[in-house]
Amino acid sequence: MTLPADPVPLDGKPTPARPDALSTSVGTVAAAQAYLLADGSVDRYRQVLADGVDRVARRVAAVDRPFTGIAPDELAPLVGDIELDRPLGDHGTALDELDEVWLRDAVWFHHPRSLAHLNCPVAIPALLGEAMLTAVNPSLDTWDQSAGATFIERRLIGWTATRVGLGPSADGVFTSGGTQSNLHALLLAREEAMAQVTDADARAVLLSRLRILTSTAGHFSVQKAAKLLGLAPDAVVTVETDAARRMCPQALGRELDRCRRADLPVMAVVATAGTTDFGTIDPLPEIARRCAAAGVWLHVDAAYGCGLLVSPTRRHLLDGIEQADSLTVDYHKSFFQPVSSSAILVQDTRVLRHATYHADYLNPARAAAERIPNQVDKSLQTTRRFDALKLWLTLRVMGPDAIGALFDEVCARADDAWALADTDPRFEVVARSPLSTVVFRWCPTGIAPELADEANRHARNQLTASGAAMVAGTTVDGRAHLKFTLLNPATTSADVTLVLDLIAEHAGRYAHDHPLGRTDRTADMSCSVV
Ligand SMILES: *Cc1c(COP(=O)(O)O)cnc(C)c1O
Repeated sequence: MTLPADPVPLDGKPTPARPDALSTSVGTVAAAQAYLLADGSVDRYRQVLADGVDRVARRVAAVDRPFTGIAPDELAPLVGDIELDRPLGDHGTALDELDEVWLRDAVWFHHPRSLAHLNCPVAIPALLGEAMLTAVNPSLDTWDQSAGATFIERRLIGWTATRVGLGPSADGVFTSGGTQSNLHALLLAREEAMAQVTDADARAVLLSRLRILTSTAGHFSVQKAAKLLGLAPDAVVTVETDAARRMCPQALGRELDRCRRADLPVMAVVATAGTTDFGTIDPLPEIARRCAAAGVWLHVDAAYGCGLLVSPTRRHLLDGIEQADSLTVDYHKSFFQPVSSSAILVQDTRVLRHATYHADYLNPARAAAERIPNQVDKSLQTTRRFDALKLWLTLRVMGPDAIGALFDEVCARADDAWALADTDPRFEVVARSPLSTVVFRWCPTGIAPELADEANRHARNQLTASGAAMVAGTTVDGRAHLKFTLLNPATTSADVTLVLDLIAEHAGRYAHDHPLGRTDRTADMSCSVV
């Protein structure tokens, strides 16, 4: 079979010459086999891994900004020009090449001015776990591919469930991320909602009428899940938020009533503990009360806010989370774990059966009867990484209080940053987050809102292009805003002040160069944020 031409533009450059000896040295099975990790290759394993670690360490030590600002058009040909059918034959040369095409222009989340997304600096014990789990390469689907790893994962699910305060029947499984955890939880909720209905026609009708309620600030993965679960296009009903961007319980009550009157069964309410955009936490006790009264499944999406589970001072912000029927936790956001490390937890282990299928070759029903602990019986995935090892080593080396203290610290840093922006007349801020998010907008008096929109977008692009800082952008009530997501305890107020100054400088220059957008209208006509 011939493959189509590589879609990455080759930029018309001639292919650089490679020493031919290198490309043939791996031509025999014996030579190739020496690359497989086995008793005879442990020296190579040690050396190669150590060299890779050294390359990363040197880069980490040397970076002076979170990003080089390289544009996609500059980088694409570097990757595109590489001839994948002509191996370099040794890892040193491959690492040199990799430095050119990746490491040199990577985005560095350990840098104090890396403020854009929910990527955290990573705990070294977790990196140790990552290196070990990939070398041993267990797959967590069945006991006979995993053995003890199965119990490590189960202990961590149990540990997390205890932290949440779920009951003795709680259970769960690690997943690839919050998106998958939300999908998994909503699959279970859908199956519970449809459990009593067996007739095929009646099931089809019910499926088309099921609704999911979540706030306007809920994560978009809820919409994706609804689509994958075969629900109607209008199945996700958004509930309005209050001025603090938290789901309004009265509005939830009204939507629950409206759905009941319209005979639209609500299969789940998704509350968010840490909205991605605002870092706000829905009022969980009040939402849980309303769900219990209506007999509706409560899913809590704590992908971001889960770090509070180990917080020494802020754990109470999650009060009510223990009433969830299911919840999502992303250790790779607020537990300082490398991607990926996430889990879905459920209050009652029995609901996990909705994702159980028995395959004769893998996990026959007989194995379940014999109490063989096959995690695939609980998971949407089959082959699955031993991501739990990273959290395990982090807890065994650092302990939960240390992780919680780090997360507390970034929440405090973000609170300081919010106050800085709030008292600065050049900026307007949105809802103060109890977590680590600051949403704001450059908007001095007298600047037309449309011009401010453009100036904020321009400032963000300029920051990225210079690599001086990485900040996120979002839209709030139709207006362009900027966002800091602080997950790095090394970020200081001086870093925040510097970045705010840079934003004001870029935005101010843009506004100055586009004077037609200026307005003489007074302050009350300038942009305002709820
Ligand atoms: C990040 C996030 C998700 C998605 O999680 P991934 O791990 O990126 O798949 C879901 N919900 C919330 C609230 C999030 O912040």
